[in-house]
Amino acid sequence: MSKFKEIKLNRFQLNVLLDEEEKAAYDYIVQEGTYCVHCKEMCTKGVDVKENFLNDMNDILIKGTCRVCNGRVSRFIEYGEFDEFSEKALRFRISIGAE
Ligand SMILES: [Zn+2]
Repeated sequence: MSKFKEIKLNRFQLNVLLDEEEKAAYDYIVQEGTYCVHCKEMCTKGVDVKENFLNDMNDILIKGTCRVCNGRVSRFIEYGEFDEFSEKALRFRISIGAE
């Protein structure tokens, strides 16, 4: 599989990219599905999302801070392994001229 460019996504682009189900999964991960290496447990108060990326494997990478300790956390959502999402991501890359 060829590698893609990592693209920083704004809120609008993230919304375009994720369907309802994927948004629900995203929200769940932000709220309670991210491990904090500083707290050594899941971010029980969720993550304050600072940046979202579409990475070179067409996964979504979330970067933010833990709402408990304010430490940096990041989490991949591995959408890239799903063909449907990969195709959508590819169309998105073409639409913004960043294939
Ligand atoms: Zn923490």
